[in-house]
Amino acid sequence: MPHSKSPLFDSVPSFSFEFFPPKTKEGASALLDTIVKLQDFHPSFVSITYGAGGSSRELTRRVVTDIQSRGIPTVPHLTCVGHSEEELEQILEGYIKTGARAILALRGDEPQQRNQDISKDNFHHAYELVRFIRQWEEKQKLPYKLSIGVAGFPEGHPDTRNRIREMDHLKAKLDEGADYICTQLFFDNHAFFDYRDRCRFMGIDQPIIAGIMPVTSIRGLNRMAELSAGTNFPARLLKAMFRAGGDRNAIERVGISYASNQCAELLDEDVDGIHFYTLNKSKATLEIYNNLGINNYYDIDRLHKLNQFYNS
Ligand SMILES: Cc1cc2nc3c(=O)[nH]c(=O)nc-3n(C[C@H](O)[C@H](O)[C@H](O)COP(=O)(O)OP(=O)(O)OC[C@H]3O[C@@H](n4cnc5c(N)ncnc54)[C@H](O)[C@@H]3O)c2cc1C
Repeated sequence: MPHSKSPLFDSVPSFSFEFFPPKTKEGASALLDTIVKLQDFHPSFVSITYGAGGSSRELTRRVVTDIQSRGIPTVPHLTCVGHSEEELEQILEGYIKTGARAILALRGDEPQQRNQDISKDNFHHAYELVRFIRQWEEKQKLPYKLSIGVAGFPEGHPDTRNRIREMDHLKAKLDEGADYICTQLFFDNHAFFDYRDRCRFMGIDQPIIAGIMPVTSIRGLNRMAELSAGTNFPARLLKAMFRAGGDRNAIERVGISYASNQCAELLDEDVDGIHFYTLNKSKATLEIYNNLGINNYYDIDRLHKLNQFYNS
């Protein structure tokens, strides 16, 4: 069993949720409602997305502060494209002040999509950000080690067609000091198991947590297509969605049932963790927990260790 010193993985499998920072009052109150419902499950951590180039910088920090203050370990995302070293240092300092002790280090969306001049960018890939964070941490003489996560793409990242080269790029992030991999959402468990095997062959023994997004509506399906570079949508799931026709409830049931089966198989195959892309909603995740019979998942020792770490 792979292991890491990161306290986020004291208890394996980890269960975690991803939220995005809301832009409206209604969105903020919906997120609060979701957090209140999901925090009863004592997630290993929750993670908060970051708009590449800094578009959600302040919003992300605010949500991190709020969730961290509820005693839930929070992992803010950080993208490096379009940021100078000084900006990244300021963002890292801000995150530390919230109480966060972990970062998901990412490159961010393709710069050309953001209409920015990238010629002066300090960073072009996530491995450089991981290196930068580890150097910054050393300079700061922090009394703890940050947990750094990085992104993984079981079905390949569209920018690199050569899967072998892509694995080298992934390994570079771990070699720079990342503690774990969180994957892009996927619907085909075989792709994940194959990816995990390839990582282990490469000597990557850090936890690999599986990104799961229950599709509960056609809108969600469209959002999934926007978010998930490189993810295939299996014909089996698509057919089931079509069978549901325009019936919203049926589509939701199909999506939750599919994701529940995916999670059950991942747990049976000793996955290191499951990360739910919640789209700031609780219902689908709650039902998956119920379907899996893990709604009482609670480990007092693990929480005790986490509390010690996050309060240090
Ligand atoms: C779990 C998760 C969370 C995410 N959260 C966010 C978020 O909050 N905000 C956001 O904007 N985006 C987010 N993304 C999207 C992510 O930023 C994009 O998918 C981005 O294109 C890739 O990021 P990365 O960190 O994997 O980049 P990298 O590791 O830099 O890889 C990007 C591409 O560059 C290639 N590459 C890496 N190193 C080299 C090298 N030395 N030479 C040549 N090619 C190289 C890789 O093979 C890959 O194809 C998330 C993705 C995932 C999976």
